[in-house]
Amino acid sequence: MIIDSHQHFVRLAKHPEVEGFRQAQLSAKNPDVLPSISDADVKKSLEQVVSLMDARNIDVAFASPRAKAMATHEGTPEQNAIWADLNNGLILRACQLNPGRFAPVGMLGQHPSCPSEQVAKQIERWTKEGFVAFNFDPDGTGGRWQNQPFTGKHNYPVFEAAQALDVPLVLHGSESINKNFPHTAVQYLVADITGFVQLMMAKDLFRDFPRLRFLIPHGGGALPCQIGRWRAIAKYNSWASPDEILGNGNVFVDTCVYNDLNMQMLFDAVPLDNMLFGSECDGAFPGVVNEQTGDHYDNTRRYVDDSKLSAGDKSRVFAANARRVYPRASRWLKS
Ligand SMILES: [Zn+2]
Repeated sequence: MIIDSHQHFVRLAKHPEVEGFRQAQLSAKNPDVLPSISDADVKKSLEQVVSLMDARNIDVAFASPRAKAMATHEGTPEQNAIWADLNNGLILRACQLNPGRFAPVGMLGQHPSCPSEQVAKQIERWTKEGFVAFNFDPDGTGGRWQNQPFTGKHNYPVFEAAQALDVPLVLHGSESINKNFPHTAVQYLVADITGFVQLMMAKDLFRDFPRLRFLIPHGGGALPCQIGRWRAIAKYNSWASPDEILGNGNVFVDTCVYNDLNMQMLFDAVPLDNMLFGSECDGAFPGVVNEQTGDHYDNTRRYVDDSKLSAGDKSRVFAANARRVYPRASRWLKS
């Protein structure tokens, strides 16, 4: 089995009625009624993704709402809770309409002024509905990075819920209003790097929540290149080392890296048990072809296949690790 642990239903999020609802919210119209999207429209929005999964022999994807659409810096706590519920409802329906192909990963109605107890309640509600993990924006200020580090006690209700319910949190950036940080090229990777380093800096976090798990997407940001620097600074500042937070089973990374060299560096830097196959199928940059391979840049399956890993190790990366790190996914997988 091959599980893509990192996918977003971007076309579904771009449905005009869905985007129109958010625009109405943000212009303070606050529509009373949620948009009604037909099953046919939900299925149609996924046709291209499913055919690409078939072409790449990806059996199942853990799918979440569009990351940019979280836009946790906009709206109000009330609006963002409704917005997250709308998106989660669509994700759930899309998973149910394609049995055996997807498992739902949720959006959280974060906002700089939102009490984290409210976010924790959303985790509880949607986990009961079958969600297997949740995206968590470590910035929350649209690329301005004005909040306290996300690992602080202000987020403890979120961490308590995630640990108690055994659902990992995926540290995923969202929209950037900072023109220096385009969201897919920079802000998401800054979120990965910042998230990883904040976890090294948070002395008490994993003492208080020893079973809490975070997934850092996009190969852990700069992890393949900079793990040596982070080992040094951890010693220098008495932080937890990258090897410690990986080795203790608290932090995992995915394989959303778009070339052979850096995929190999990722396998060299990160223990195999901490690596989950991810391909963002159909990609942050759909259809863009890498002339060296003649294939899409974002077909990360190719780079894992071409790596020096043994067949047994590949099967751990392709599925076994994802099943272990996302235990609630089992109900969505065909036996
Ligand atoms: Zn993503």
